[in-house]
Amino acid sequence: MFFSIRDLELRKLPFEVELPPGQIDFLDPELKQNGNLHAAGQAELLSSTLGEIRIHGHIRVNMDTPCDRCLEPASLRIDSDFDLCYGPAEMATSAEEVELDDAEAEMGFYEGDGLELADVLREFILLQVPMQIVCRQDCKGICPVCGGNRNSAACECRLPSADDRWAALKNL
Ligand SMILES: [Zn+2]
Ligand SMILES: [Zn+2]
Repeated sequence: MFFSIRDLELRKLPFEVELPPGQIDFLDPELKQNGNLHAAGQAELLSSTLGEIRIHGHIRVNMDTPCDRCLEPASLRIDSDFDLCYGPAEMATSAEEVELDDAEAEMGFYEGDGLELADVLREFILLQVPMQIVCRQDCKGICPVCGGNRNSAACECRLPSADDRWAALKNL
């Protein structure tokens, strides 16, 4: 769904979408949408600005991404309000010359004559994915010796001492 400046100049544009997996390219093959994404809200052109678009609403989606410890899919539920502002791309260059205040630092930019909803949703979802994610709090991870998933089977491996591990790193 595309919000064009021309339409936004006339009225606020409500939206409600149900997107199956594959509709949004998350630019990261490890990050997968699990089930439909639901988003609803409204886009509007902010008056007395140089064409800033505010888009706000609610998004609900399940994402799968590999667990940091065992690499099995860890699921991430996003069920959250969002409220984002986008300025025309020309503003990005002029903004570099002035001190950015907090609000501007959080602002995104759009090229051309409008904003694509899928781009907004992708950006918001990527921001919601934490740096560290585990499939469950007590995930035991992968055995560094045999490479087995220690959640599914306990192995008999003995961990090398800390000194050995440093030696292994140096060999990489
Ligand atoms: Zn795990
Ligand atoms: Zn092992």
